[in-house]
Amino acid sequence: MADEVRVRFAPSPTGELHVGGARTALYNWLYAKNLGGKFILRVEDTDEKRSTEENLETILRSMQWLGLDWDEGPVLQSDRLDLYNDYVSLLMSSGNAYYCFAAQEDIEEQRREALEADENWVYRGADRELSSDEVRAKLDAEEPHTVRFKVPDEGTITVDDAVQGEVTFESAHIEDFVLQRSDEKPTYHLSNVVDDIEMGITHVIRGADHLSNTPKQVLVYEALNAKLPIFAHLPLILGEDGKRLSKRHGATSVEHFHDKGYLPGAVINYLALLGWNAGDDREVFTSAELTSEFSLERVNKANPKFDVEKLSWLNGEYIKEVPAGELRPAVREALQVRGCWNEELDMERRDFFFALIELWQPRSRTINELADHIAPFLTEAFAYEPDGLKEHVHGKDLLGVVQAFREALLQVDPWNQEQLEESLREVATGAEKEAAELIHPTRIALVGKKASPGIFEVLELMGREKARVRLDRMIRYLSKLEEAKTKRLEQIAAAAAKK
Ligand code: GLU
Repeated sequence: MADEVRVRFAPSPTGELHVGGARTALYNWLYAKNLGGKFILRVEDTDEKRSTEENLETILRSMQWLGLDWDEGPVLQSDRLDLYNDYVSLLMSSGNAYYCFAAQEDIEEQRREALEADENWVYRGADRELSSDEVRAKLDAEEPHTVRFKVPDEGTITVDDAVQGEVTFESAHIEDFVLQRSDEKPTYHLSNVVDDIEMGITHVIRGADHLSNTPKQVLVYEALNAKLPIFAHLPLILGEDGKRLSKRHGATSVEHFHDKGYLPGAVINYLALLGWNAGDDREVFTSAELTSEFSLERVNKANPKFDVEKLSWLNGEYIKEVPAGELRPAVREALQVRGCWNEELDMERRDFFFALIELWQPRSRTINELADHIAPFLTEAFAYEPDGLKEHVHGKDLLGVVQAFREALLQVDPWNQEQLEESLREVATGAEKEAAELIHPTRIALVGKKASPGIFEVLELMGREKARVRLDRMIRYLSKLEEAKTKRLEQIAAAAAKK
């Protein structure tokens, strides 16, 4: 099995899973699936202060929701501290690492001075030169220390990156980095490389923000005589303003998109496009298409922009295509959150619920939008969209015509789109109004919004009783407007009479 592809996703549980991490996880997952390899989940949790179990749970939950299932793990680095210590000993005994007793403040001071003097400076520990007796004495005296890697003073390190191409680093620019902290915990550079070796990782696929770490890690591999993996550094994801995507650009956690009613398939599809293309202009891919077509060769170097509008558009495309039955559980959940679910919709009114989903599917970009559209069919406790009121209701002298339409609806028979349309047109004509002048306020009365599918379709599906209740509510609203208007006119008249 020497050739088996083994990749890993190695999150640090210092926060939720965000778009960048999810994209890294996805590309690893796709790569493994594409080549029949293994996808390993490793949790880099040696930073005790910043890692939490809660974050880990959220990361796992997000991965599961996205369907990024792992073949091995999760392996927690915090369970393997002895292993890293063994490797520290190995590097010490081969002369590649040394105890460093220098105080952090002194090193920082040197760094600051060099910066002020505008000098290039990298840390080279003086303690490299300590004799073994001197080291022993200091250890016996329990002097605080770290273990650092002895970086060669000269030479270059070339990383042949599968995405970024050849990148060469000067050894002289790399400091003697810490392998083991003063609390004996390994640093990222050590535990990351040790695990990649121990786990037989063949490809390290991760964000380009780690490219600058790579020469250090290559030095560790070489010091251990270990075979280098193939590195593939994915382009950075940027916000709309061209700066690296961060919290400033709004919520970007996978959990957030879950909560907002995005579909995992659409999120996966969108993430796949953040740095990869299939070589043509297709944008909608099934998971099976992605796994069969994904390759590192088609990962771009150029940094992609995260565009939430595009994600929403794509999500809308997914919602349109998914059979209503598949959307049901998620829509039900969203309706439950809105307090307008009732069990009948799962039982005797199941068809009605299906028809509602189908009616709104083509017009909803997220499950939440879908639920917002459906809610007015289940409850009358919805708000009227202010814009809609302004454009189509206020100042339009509608009370009479809406009342007339309400009465006419009681007589419509059979209750179907054709009859409903005929009835509305008759009422409008009778009131000397255009049909549209009645259609718009009726729509606001029925669903609270300016836009909806065809109003007669809405009416037919909603049914006579619900339509009546909603029109009654609009009639009450219009009566209040009339009252307010009359009062205002009286006040004006009274004020004028006083003059
Ligand atoms: N724990 C590192 C991170 O979350 C992993 C980097 C790597 O994949 O090597 O960024």
